[in-house]
Amino acid sequence: CGIFGYYNHRVPRNRREILDCLLTGLRRLEYRGYDSAGICVDAQPAATHIKDAPTCNGHANGHANGGEASGPGTPPLVIKSSGKIAELEAQAQRELEDLQVDLGTVFACHAGVAHTRWATHGPPTATNAHPHVSGRDHQFVVVHNGIITNFRPLKNFLVSHGFSFVSDTDTEVIPKLCQYVYDSSPPDTPLSELVLAVMEQLEGAYALLVKSTHYPGELVACKRGSPLILGIRASPAAAVASPGVKGCYQAAKLRAVEGGFECFLASDASAVVEHTKKVIVLEDSDLVHLKDGAYFLFNAAERKAEENAAAGSPRL
Ligand code: GLU
Repeated sequence: CGIFGYYNHRVPRNRREILDCLLTGLRRLEYRGYDSAGICVDAQPAATHIKDAPTCNGHANGHANGGEASGPGTPPLVIKSSGKIAELEAQAQRELEDLQVDLGTVFACHAGVAHTRWATHGPPTATNAHPHVSGRDHQFVVVHNGIITNFRPLKNFLVSHGFSFVSDTDTEVIPKLCQYVYDSSPPDTPLSELVLAVMEQLEGAYALLVKSTHYPGELVACKRGSPLILGIRASPAAAVASPGVKGCYQAAKLRAVEGGFECFLASDASAVVEHTKKVIVLEDSDLVHLKDGAYFLFNAAERKAEENAAAGSPRL
């Protein structure tokens, strides 16, 4: 099974290039074994005049989307199929043709995710294939490698709060939990904080990628027990800022890059080395937030320990 994510910021790519990148990433991971596959790409660029302005105008965070005052953006395209990557590719071609989706549409900023599934919970059907979504409007989209061992109580909780489930997987609780946490959080809550709150509820093993219509052009990745690596490709003009410059989180680790910037997330390096040699092997409890042409990397467990220490320290 495998995970692949592709994020571009100020590096205009058309939809065909993004799809090719995702499908090629999955092919590199094929050797790991799988029974079904899926991808998610945006339906629309976040910026209105994308060709003239290679930048993201999606709001950095909060309950807003590019170009509108409130409410989620256009649902992204989620395409899944049982069987081989070639079948997923054929399925994607059919669906994109049916929807008259233009492969030439340019995205200056985009966050795409892809997955090959080795079924642990539920048969290898297209419905059980990843990505899984929070609801029909795809506000939160998740790909997952691993097993969520406490998915039953989480599912019961979510069902009692009005969520309905379409798959047999353990994974489907994750996008629904994202939605639940989003709905009960302040409007300007960063995507990374939502995912952090979700991580705290999950038991078992996971490598996750999360994207959301509320956070156009952003991607969050995290892992515990399942492998995940981050590859970074920055333009030669990109400046690497020193840690702390964009310290909007109490980050244990932080880098920020201005200018053209692409990131690749994958279960192993074989899917990343053709794009970049700058690779970070994520550790358990690491969370990466890709946003505004920067990556924010911190360790959730270390941060929690710091918070607990701060809370426990005597007041002056
Ligand atoms: N447990 C999840 C499922 O059955 C993910 C399996 C995988 O790692 O591919 O859908």
